[in-house]
Amino acid sequence: MTTKILIWMFAGLVLGSLINAFAQDIAFIQIYFVQGLFHVVGTVFINLLKMLVVPLVTFSLVCGVCGIGDINKLGRVGIKAFFLFLLTTALAISLAIIVSISIGPGKSFDLSPTSQSEFIAPEAPPLTQVLIDLVPDNPVAAFAEGNMLQIIFFTLLFAICLLMIGERGRPIIDSTEKLNEVMMQLVNVVMSIAPYGVFALMAKTFAMQGLGLILPMIGYFGAVVIVLICHATGTLMVLLKLLGRINPVQFLKKMRTAQIFAFSTSSSNATIPITLRTAEKRMGVDNSTASFIVPFGATINMDGTAIMQGVATVFIANVYGIELGLTDYLTVVGMSVLASIGTAGVPGVGLIMLAMVFSQVGLPVEGIALIMGVDRLLDMLRTAVNVTGDAVITVIVARSEDNLSMDVFNDPSAGTLSS
Ligand code: ASP
Repeated sequence: MTTKILIWMFAGLVLGSLINAFAQDIAFIQIYFVQGLFHVVGTVFINLLKMLVVPLVTFSLVCGVCGIGDINKLGRVGIKAFFLFLLTTALAISLAIIVSISIGPGKSFDLSPTSQSEFIAPEAPPLTQVLIDLVPDNPVAAFAEGNMLQIIFFTLLFAICLLMIGERGRPIIDSTEKLNEVMMQLVNVVMSIAPYGVFALMAKTFAMQGLGLILPMIGYFGAVVIVLICHATGTLMVLLKLLGRINPVQFLKKMRTAQIFAFSTSSSNATIPITLRTAEKRMGVDNSTASFIVPFGATINMDGTAIMQGVATVFIANVYGIELGLTDYLTVVGMSVLASIGTAGVPGVGLIMLAMVFSQVGLPVEGIALIMGVDRLLDMLRTAVNVTGDAVITVIVARSEDNLSMDVFNDPSAGTLSS
């Protein structure tokens, strides 16, 4: 299945790039294919994935908490995951800053008026509001809006109370387990049409974006890509080996499908169903751990996004000739770790977080306009890294809690759609 999705993904990428290069002015292709077929199939596919997220996370989390059955253990799992999320994000952005200071992207960048366009920084919520917003005043609204942190908060409390009423809660737990099974089956059904969805998303994105945009920004683009690769295959894998005693090669093989989904949808949130399925069925993480850490991570853990911010900070400082000191860089690290907690895993959110970081260290927020052109492509790559980070922490915490089946993890065919 993964190979099939990969083939369709590349086909979409090639077709999209060809349309961008040769068929920009052919109205027929633009109307019936780019804005027609590709747009409709791609959007329907993303909607199908998003459709799964709220019910899947809810049922799965209730089953997870009731499966743990012990509130202390739940707290321990949450705290471990939270600190590991902070650690990996801080490592990611520090690596990004160090590498980009050494490469020096943007030093000879020509800041001509034509390269500047408008960037209006969207309002970012203050940290106090982020904390207040953790608690929904209306859970129905939280579910309707898909507010992940509020959904997690309410569902955790609900499941804990379900445990507290003891045997009387049993029928609800049993029904939720069955509902969870149905949702997992629905994930399989949606995955079976993934190749066509991924194809359409790729074809549309590349038909509209074109790779030519990268050239003038090659220094910045290249630096982000290098650090993303180093973090995903270096830092995260070392942590996996050291803290989880897990084989990184096997992990990366099993992660491929989820990474492709993240890459083509640019959304950690929309990828939750696939990350959850990968963690449970492919890697053998017990539902009690995965159901909690995966949606939590998709919302608050964004290593790839932090990397983009680190490189962007150095790049914009170089372009505008602004000297940043050690304190500024430490502020950038702290700010992006906080910003990643307060913003959701949806496409393009990285730029909003970047505006928060820039205003904190006194970099021109309008500088973001420079990197906006290539952001759509980088968003795809960094979302794949974000999702990899979530899965790494899920596996490490599961291993430390003895909630990881090594038989499943070591079985290459475990959880494949054909098995
Ligand atoms: N699209 C990213 C995600 O969903 C967030 C971002 O970097 O904009 O994880």
